[in-house]
Amino acid sequence: MQHHMKTVLCALIWAITVHAQAEERGERYQPTSTRCPSAPMLDTPSSNNGDGSSGLPPARAAGNAANSGLPNNGFPPPARLDAHGQKLAGPPEPSRPRVEQRQCAKSCEAGYTMVMDDRHQQWCQRIKPKAISMSVPVELKPAGIDAPFQLNRDGKNKHKLDPAKLAPWQGRVVVQVVGSDDKPLVGQAVKLVQTVEDDSGGHPERKHKGQRPLAVLFLEKAALAVNKQGEITTPLVTDAQGQIKLFFSAPEFAGVHRLKAECAQSTCGTAEETVMVKVPDLAEYEPAEGTAQLVGGTNEKHEQRHYLTKQSIKNLEVMIKAMNKSGWKPVGVNDAALPWGGLFDISGNWRPSHFDHGAGTAVDLRTANIELGTKSQVYDSQCNSQDANALSNQLPSTKILWHDGPPHDIEHFHVYLLGTAPNGTPKKSCQDAGGWMKKADEKAKAKADKEGKKETKG
Ligand SMILES: [Zn+2]
Ligand SMILES: [Zn+2]
Repeated sequence: MQHHMKTVLCALIWAITVHAQAEERGERYQPTSTRCPSAPMLDTPSSNNGDGSSGLPPARAAGNAANSGLPNNGFPPPARLDAHGQKLAGPPEPSRPRVEQRQCAKSCEAGYTMVMDDRHQQWCQRIKPKAISMSVPVELKPAGIDAPFQLNRDGKNKHKLDPAKLAPWQGRVVVQVVGSDDKPLVGQAVKLVQTVEDDSGGHPERKHKGQRPLAVLFLEKAALAVNKQGEITTPLVTDAQGQIKLFFSAPEFAGVHRLKAECAQSTCGTAEETVMVKVPDLAEYEPAEGTAQLVGGTNEKHEQRHYLTKQSIKNLEVMIKAMNKSGWKPVGVNDAALPWGGLFDISGNWRPSHFDHGAGTAVDLRTANIELGTKSQVYDSQCNSQDANALSNQLPSTKILWHDGPPHDIEHFHVYLLGTAPNGTPKKSCQDAGGWMKKADEKAKAKADKEGKKETKG
């Protein structure tokens, strides 16, 4: 990695140097003060440098003599001389791209190409950027899906990047600039803007407050700075391959993200690409008439919020069938996941709330106005019973988190339909956060005692 960092640093220094030289040289300049030699130069560094009129330092001239072209490998010329010494006149290394075997091409500095005018005068003409292109990951999962992610509670960037081990919400972005000579253009400054489409991912803009989070872009391991308009403010310059290699780390929220790249100093067209941040293959849960019904609060920010994976829907249907048998009918099905999953910000403020609803594997079932005995029977069937017909045998991985009631919480069943949190962590057991089973036992006992007393009396 350190070697790679060095490479990038060298490329950057070299790009800046080239840029400075290009400015001194202007749009075009005559390659040498004398005419170009008539034969291809395959001779030794000393003879090439013989007339001393090239104006290039010996190292540069020697590099040219090797016909390996100007330093498009990202390293400054002196290092190459050190590495190869007298062997420069030999055959070029296979890994290094050769400059065309055109006469005099080697006399132009990097960033210039040889042209001939009407009077057969050769010039080194500055290479202009001609075209820009970009490759992006087509689809990524939202942050926190299938792997742990430090959620962004305070607005600070919690994205981390290990290029050797990308998270399910991370992918590579490569911007490529080609020059007027149809070759990769080195040292080209590029403007990059990131936006996210309004209403995408099932988050209606008119019902949301605050700044919608963007993806975090990385150059190596460093996050790029971005302003409120999504413009990347960290300078970006093409490397020795004419590329800018970045990483895209998607936010916790699903949505349609767009990247737009342009050359900073002159026109080279526009490259625009889209990254879909989503949990794939979620389907809308539609309850069978009478068995269950979709419910919600009075101030919902997300109209579409009953999406689940197909297996989750199957498991939910099994559970609802058993609940109906216990007399729980219809079952009030509240929040599941948004159409593309991702963090479900109940309050519409781009902040975490529904932590466990991002993957389409969890659902909230309303418990209001249901007999405690009925609820405890269902919970017991899923969480404790060893009975052959019990829910625990039909849905061995499904777990219920029975939320406490006021003042701490709103009582409901949060059901892990596949037995895992969205980040993939298995849920080993059910949880009775409100101590409801004990309350149910006490109630049943009191009732039995009362009936017992009645019987004794009778
Ligand atoms: Zn939202
Ligand atoms: Zn829940």
